[in-house]
Amino acid sequence: QATIEASGKDPYPDWKAGDPVPYAALCTTFSLIELTTKRLQIIAYCSSFLQQVLRLTPRDLLPTVQLMLNKLAADYAGIELGIGESLIMKAIGESSGRSLSVIKADHHKIGDLGLVAAKSKSKQAQMFKPKPLTVHGVHQGLLEIAKMEGHGSQDQKVRAINRLMASADVSSASKTVDITKDKGGPSEAKFLVRFLEGKLRLGLAEKTVIVALAQAVVTYEAAKKGKIPSTDQLANGEAVLKQVYSELPSYEVIIPAMLEHGVFNLHETCKLQPGVPLKPMLAKPTKSITEVLDRFEGKDFTCEYKYDGERAQIHYVAPDVKSEFPAAENTLAKDPKRFNGLAAIFSRNSEDLSKKYPDILEKLNTWIKPSTKSFVLDCETVAWDPQNKKVLPFQQLMTRKRKDVKTSEVTVKVCVFAFDLLFYNGEPLVKKSFRERRELLHNAFTLAEGEFSFAQYGDTRDVEEIQHLLDESVKASCEGLMVKMLDTEDSGYEPSKRSRNWLKVKKDYLAGVGDSLDLVVLGAYYGKGKRTSWYGAFLLGAYNEDTQTFETVCNIGTGFSEAILEEFYKDLSEIVIDGAKPFYSHSTVKNDQPDVWFEARHVWEVKTAGLTLSPRYRAAIDEMGGKNGISLRFPRFIQKRDDKKPEEATTTKAIAEMYRKQEVVAQETRGKGGVD
Ligand code: ATP
Repeated sequence: QATIEASGKDPYPDWKAGDPVPYAALCTTFSLIELTTKRLQIIAYCSSFLQQVLRLTPRDLLPTVQLMLNKLAADYAGIELGIGESLIMKAIGESSGRSLSVIKADHHKIGDLGLVAAKSKSKQAQMFKPKPLTVHGVHQGLLEIAKMEGHGSQDQKVRAINRLMASADVSSASKTVDITKDKGGPSEAKFLVRFLEGKLRLGLAEKTVIVALAQAVVTYEAAKKGKIPSTDQLANGEAVLKQVYSELPSYEVIIPAMLEHGVFNLHETCKLQPGVPLKPMLAKPTKSITEVLDRFEGKDFTCEYKYDGERAQIHYVAPDVKSEFPAAENTLAKDPKRFNGLAAIFSRNSEDLSKKYPDILEKLNTWIKPSTKSFVLDCETVAWDPQNKKVLPFQQLMTRKRKDVKTSEVTVKVCVFAFDLLFYNGEPLVKKSFRERRELLHNAFTLAEGEFSFAQYGDTRDVEEIQHLLDESVKASCEGLMVKMLDTEDSGYEPSKRSRNWLKVKKDYLAGVGDSLDLVVLGAYYGKGKRTSWYGAFLLGAYNEDTQTFETVCNIGTGFSEAILEEFYKDLSEIVIDGAKPFYSHSTVKNDQPDVWFEARHVWEVKTAGLTLSPRYRAAIDEMGGKNGISLRFPRFIQKRDDKKPEEATTTKAIAEMYRKQEVVAQETRGKGGVD
């Protein structure tokens, strides 16, 4: 409904059918979105704009959606802009003819590089008027910037940004720049810079864009027939697109299909397939075996060892069925010397890890039964000690180089522990029960000691047997158990979801708050005493998915060895920034500020003795009533999580959930006369 209400007025009347979508039109929509926090209103603005794209320039729908998402391509394409704050400041300075020191001073005062760019642009007198920016042109320009690498690429990037900036804000629609009154208005320079920084700061989460896209296509298709879609049709369209995207997260594949066939039949044309990695299913933490039994009461479940390595998704297509998988031809490596067919290994965030694990790809063919022609395998790569024939801790695996590993130089051997099969011989399996998927998995491969194995498991409901399995898993250097529903319709594979149908029971959190947390390093304090030459404590944040901000959650100074502090000083010094990013939510009290701020890049795993409310931190502050955020009691550093991106850090929602659980348990304990 909201779509229809908002679609009354064209936000950009100069744009005619067949014209490339003006970037200024997209920025006008962004600036409308920026002025509201209401999700329905945001969806309405997006949907209305996408309807206009569909009506006037459907060929630009894909880059429009990508720019809305602050993404240049699907994650597996591995395209990253790689631009730090200093490079952006340099480009703003050069393109507007203002000195770097003036830009820095502005940045210090305004705190948002996007607004600094808008202000610089509005002060600039232009001799001649370049052609206005288009969505397609901006997308291409940014893509080229992302692809620049090697010697001299930094300067090349600055020049390329300058070219885009020179054409920004030349059309009449984007003139309004009053950074004090309207957040900078529809300035193209502002949104270009925010894109380069990686955060548009519009509260435009991917799920919102998906809903808006579905609404736009359904409404547009109905309008072609002179109709208005019903609420049911809109809801149905959203559900279809969400489901299809979760199984095939590629707008490059879905959008052309949608332009051709609409939304409702997408299921048939866009299916999970090798070549397009999907986001893995994740588990919910539990604090006790009895909690597991309560959750799965009356239902069959299995307890698998929880291996402590790196999540991996292996995709494979045999040579004789290649023609059935066009997407695989582009994304899976062909390397006849290494393996027969097309194959690749993707990380939990769809990064291509094939260059990290050439040793796995080389042996892949030896584990595949001849009847297995295509698959998507969910598994864990775990560091392996070949002498003692046992798995090694996660830290060992993290010492492996991430890129261009030569098999002959591999020092840390890995074993693949397979636990799920998502696609097999031409068919997606995600809707099948886990029992069926597991059976197919066990029939599709052959075991190879120290190289390829199935996750160890026991199907039991007996508390003592589960406890025994947990003890055994720990003895086998695993983290604990993954408990999974086996038969019911709930046992399907839920891509990208932290599902209640998978529960994790870790050995060391049975007594704590339920899980360790993965937090983003936002700032640091110089050390005292022995630690003066390094950072001695750090400010950490959790991720708020709704507002796309990092909210501070604790200071941490425990759990670090001197060697690691030295290493962190080296790594973090390279990403020091002038001040907190506008998408960091932190205390403004003077004494609460860290000595330095960092780009949000590193994720650390942290253990805590419990959660507490504190006015100093901001995590989940809105959910907690706006006064206090949630903080950690006695946080202790465990390890780096280089396999996670900052946006994959523990969410503030999850922290709020942990906090509530902790409070319930505390109340129950008090009620039973236990310790407070
Ligand atoms: P954690 O820090 O506990 O690994 P996480 O956020 O990385 O948390 P979770 O959903 O909490 O992910 O835990 C599931 C992870 O455990 C999976 O991502 C996978 O890497 C790993 N894992 C190990 N063994 C299994 C198994 N048998 N089944 C599923 N996942 C497993």
